Amino acid sequence: MNPTDEQLRATLIAERARTLALIDSLSARLKAVIDATADQAADDEHDPEGSTLAVERGELVAQVERSRVRVEEIDGALERLGHGNYGRCENCGKPIDPERLEVLPAARQCIDCAMRGPTRRW
Ligand SMILES: [Zn+2]
Repeated sequence: MNPTDEQLRATLIAERARTLALIDSLSARLKAVIDATADQAADDEHDPEGSTLAVERGELVAQVERSRVRVEEIDGALERLGHGNYGRCENCGKPIDPERLEVLPAARQCIDCAMRGPTRRW
């Protein structure tokens, strides 16, 4: 049985809340790393911990960015749900496999279109 719009909405909202909480904890960690870096002397090039922190900072920034994109995708899915377009491939208009939506509730494209990908489009 397909989930109802209400169930889908609840799933998306829960996913959105989880992602926002993740952004919060990543941001807190990022701030701690930035503070720790700022505490260090100017010659942290010679400090092995300094470069570890720099790597961690880069990873945290990337994770926060990915999570923000995810929130936008979820917002987009909620909007499509409101317009009755949810679960329809943005590219070819066919219904998206419900199993795919279960794993990726904010999926915009069917598996065929997603696998083809924007870089491999003719
Ligand atoms: Zn498609």
